[in-house]
Amino acid sequence: MKNLRGIIVLIVLLLFTVCAGALYADSEMHWSYSGEYGPQNWHKLPGSQANGKKQSPINIPSDAPINENGIKFFYMDSLLNIENNGHTIKVSYERGSYILVEGKKYNLLQFHFHAPSEHTFSGEHFPMETHFVHQSDDGEYAVIGLFLKKGEYNSAYASIWEHFPEEGEKKETDTVINAKTLLPERKSYYRYDGSFTTPPCTEGVKWFVLKDSVELSDDQISQFEKFYKSNNRPIQPFNRRGFYLGGEEQKKDSFLPVFVIIGIVIIAIGIMFFFMQGKKSEKR
Ligand SMILES: [Zn+2]
Repeated sequence: MKNLRGIIVLIVLLLFTVCAGALYADSEMHWSYSGEYGPQNWHKLPGSQANGKKQSPINIPSDAPINENGIKFFYMDSLLNIENNGHTIKVSYERGSYILVEGKKYNLLQFHFHAPSEHTFSGEHFPMETHFVHQSDDGEYAVIGLFLKKGEYNSAYASIWEHFPEEGEKKETDTVINAKTLLPERKSYYRYDGSFTTPPCTEGVKWFVLKDSVELSDDQISQFEKFYKSNNRPIQPFNRRGFYLGGEEQKKDSFLPVFVIIGIVIIAIGIMFFFMQGKKSEKR
């Protein structure tokens, strides 16, 4: 009899653990761009690095150093495989396309869109931003950010826009795309170390934000905005990071504040001497 009671207690405990585990796993998945599960609470999610010091997106100041022609693109054709996952519209790319940058190869995994842009330039948002997500064979991530602005109708983007799925849906199509056609002609970029802009906001992501933007028509932008109008994480502090130029991190001169402090001390000592001299002459 005692044994039976023990077994029942054990079963109840087990069930409780399983249920709690399921709830925990569910909370891990659930996040949004506003309200209780919004960006200000992303750091509470399991495994989140959202409170880290090297987060994305950031503002790019107009005087940030520009890298010219540093990325070699090897983007092949791919069948359009598109998904509306409740956070963005994402295109998964067939294996075999990659970039070479800073002496390393990164395979193109997918690209997706944000509206408005996540990064800002000189404090200004663009209507949209495309993220091309790459991963090296040793697991490192490199993301190319591309600003999309209002302008001419863009036929390269149209072949994707035609296939937007409803929320929670996936489509495998016969349409052939090439991610190369989505890029601007010149590929100069701003380079910094950041994170994923969605939970768990993992750091160690190399960011390449292209200087030149690409145009979409008013209609094309509002077509995307019908699905996602504010799927952008707020701008994160830059902290003690530097932009990279030719693979070298350009940290802001941290000696400047020291010089300012030394300067103030010298001036203060000078003023003190001045008054002391004055008092001495009064005594005479
Ligand atoms: Zn993104």
